[in-house]
Amino acid sequence: MPDVRDVIIIGSGPAGLTAAIYTARANLAPLVLEGEPSSNSDQPGGQLMLTTDVENFPGFPDGIMGPELMMNFRMQAERFGAEIHTVKVSKVDLSAKPYSVWVGDPDASVPTHHANALIIATGAQSIMLDLPNETELVGHGLSTCATCDGFFFRDQEIAVVGGGDSALEEANFLSRFASKVIIIHRRSELRASKIMQDRAFNNPKIEFLWDTVVTEYLGDSKLAGVMVENVKTGESNELPLSGLFIAIGHRPGTDLYKGQLAMKENGYLETMPDRTATDVEGVFAVGDVTDDYYRQAITAAGSGCQGALEAERYLEALHD
Ligand code: NAP
Repeated sequence: MPDVRDVIIIGSGPAGLTAAIYTARANLAPLVLEGEPSSNSDQPGGQLMLTTDVENFPGFPDGIMGPELMMNFRMQAERFGAEIHTVKVSKVDLSAKPYSVWVGDPDASVPTHHANALIIATGAQSIMLDLPNETELVGHGLSTCATCDGFFFRDQEIAVVGGGDSALEEANFLSRFASKVIIIHRRSELRASKIMQDRAFNNPKIEFLWDTVVTEYLGDSKLAGVMVENVKTGESNELPLSGLFIAIGHRPGTDLYKGQLAMKENGYLETMPDRTATDVEGVFAVGDVTDDYYRQAITAAGSGCQGALEAERYLEALHD
């Protein structure tokens, strides 16, 4: 049987690595299974690896690049003894203690690791349009977070893709900075709530482009515009823009836990009120994998700290 670790942390964004820093400093020798690059948009370190300037993470008055910030998190965790493996978890079994974790072949009869406590920090991914050059343009005019990047588009013409509450909320927020915000929606009816619709319709800076999809990003190293197509008439047009925000939903990284952990209707992991504890004792969920509301690096880091403290207390009771 493989060694039984006290804590295994799955995921390596701000939540996972903050949990690693705290559990390492509590002498719990955490093992972090950080993920493995499988594409440009899916790599260890989470969503900040796809960002350029981060100006709202406290402690960096001049801002910091997303990948550099994550490298700092990682080095800080390693300094206190966190062991980080660049591998992808293929299966977990939470039906018996200690919990089992597989890396590689999920059908292997013996799991790769056992753990008394698990901290799940597998994050969420923004759903993207999957157009050519998309990953390269993220952070260079293409964004998935108005709160993070709106400030960079002062007095510019930008657009938001989507017709749900997120798209309208982002457009309203962006109108504080931009000179014009165009909402590009694939239908002629919005999915968003009535109150958000009223707010957007009454905002003089917001315009709508109905029945329209983005078919191409223009610009090589920096977004210069998009090609759009009217799905009813088939007509194509070039739309010059300096910024495009994709707001067509998020997908939490919860496939591994289906049928084993309680999930909300939208697939995010359910935790106890004001806690990171899931419905399985000793399994904690932190960061965006459980957060469909704030979705910020700083809130994820705070949640990672909470998960580490809860895991520490759980292990203390277990060992007593
Ligand atoms: P959502 O409600 O699922 O809306 C996604 C939007 O993106 C839809 O309008 C959809 O078009 C469009 N879309 C999806 N795939 C697309 C594609 N490939 N190309 C172009 N358009 C595409 O997602 P959300 O807006 O992120 O909201 C998620 C949940 O959070 C919702 O329950 C929402 O109410 C909630 N939320 C609430 C607030 C708030 O109350 N302040 C703020 C944000 C989110 P169709 O309409 O044609 O399907």
